[in-house]
Amino acid sequence: MDLYEYQARDVFASHGVPVLAGTVADTPEEVRAAAESLGGRVVVKAQVKTGGRGKAGGVKLAQDPVQARERAEAILGLDIKGHVTRRVLVTEASDIAEEYYFSFLLDRANRTFLAMASAEGGVEIEQLAVERPEALARVPVDPLVGVDEAAAVEIVTRAGFPEAIRQRAAEVVVRLWETFVAEDATLVEVNPLVRDPQDRIVALDGKVTLDDNAGFRHPGHAQLVDVQAEDPLEAKAKAKDLNYVKLDGQVGIIGNGAGLVMSTLDVVAYAGQRHGGVRPANFLDIGGGASAEVMAAGLDVILGDPAVKSVFVNVFGGITACDAVATGIVEALRILGDEAAKPLVVRLDGNNVEQGRAILAEANHPLVTLVDTMDNAADKAAELAAAGA
Ligand code: GDP
Ligand code: MN
Repeated sequence: MDLYEYQARDVFASHGVPVLAGTVADTPEEVRAAAESLGGRVVVKAQVKTGGRGKAGGVKLAQDPVQARERAEAILGLDIKGHVTRRVLVTEASDIAEEYYFSFLLDRANRTFLAMASAEGGVEIEQLAVERPEALARVPVDPLVGVDEAAAVEIVTRAGFPEAIRQRAAEVVVRLWETFVAEDATLVEVNPLVRDPQDRIVALDGKVTLDDNAGFRHPGHAQLVDVQAEDPLEAKAKAKDLNYVKLDGQVGIIGNGAGLVMSTLDVVAYAGQRHGGVRPANFLDIGGGASAEVMAAGLDVILGDPAVKSVFVNVFGGITACDAVATGIVEALRILGDEAAKPLVVRLDGNNVEQGRAILAEANHPLVTLVDTMDNAADKAAELAAAGA
């Protein structure tokens, strides 16, 4: 889960990372009032989960509360890369001497954590990474060792932070590492990390991604979810405890076991190339013990996606045998009744496969096509999706 800047700022503050005073506001009048209580000169910042707000006109300095109100009128409702601004953060305005870049992230390719830092932060960091990669220090972090003050000094030195503020910056870096670990984040990014004219170091912007798999360790994280902005299908799936991820294709996918579902996405994407470029519409793993209720819940979510034109049910019978899964499919279609109105391609294999296929053949449901192999089933599902599109 990605956090909004104001949420990242709260998380930073709770771990002792220096941030500017500020409040969120949803209307121009609230912004005016907030500016007044912050001393007049403020920055009004669009709260959207995308970068480059500054360039898009979503970050504006205001000299007084009246101007802050005007800024808010321009920013609220602003569309930034498809994200409509509904809320702004109002912070006291900082005077900036220098802008640095700092992040900790999970480096999946190298199976470790990584610190990235540059003395040249600000809005052009992506460009810097491409054009002058040597200006962006990349320092691997051993998760068992972590980042103490000495390690932090080493990182900011390699990044070329000026001598005068290295020690202070290192203290902030240690706090950012504490934030990263304590919150189970996969990304903590500060751009810009600012040096003000008094040589204080402040996190002026924050991006935090939390690891949803660690959610059980953080009861407080649930309230950071923006229910309004959530994809409605993902929200529905989450409410039913389904491992569902919405994708942008036309072939709905249900399988048991994450590995099988991942490879199903691949074969469907591949088969789709022969059928007008149709693609998988989702990831959905209904797990090992796929009861009729779980199958019905999964089908309900997938069939509720208007982009879905066909569904591929790909099951390898293991502990839950194919006959139980077949019964589940038949029962699920009965539960859904008229709501099930899109063709289903079913491939069953594994434990009790003959009995499973017999149950589906017996039911002879008009929407169901039984196909023996995964490749042929993927092809059939793609063909049906292309025909229905
Ligand atoms: P982003 O464009 O989405 O990354 O938004 P940021 O929060 O990083 O803001 C973009 C830029 O606005 C920063 O790099 C700063 O140059 C500028 N900015 C943001 N807050 C302040 C502030 O308090 N004072 C001043 N002078 N500039 C600011
Ligand atoms: Mn920024």
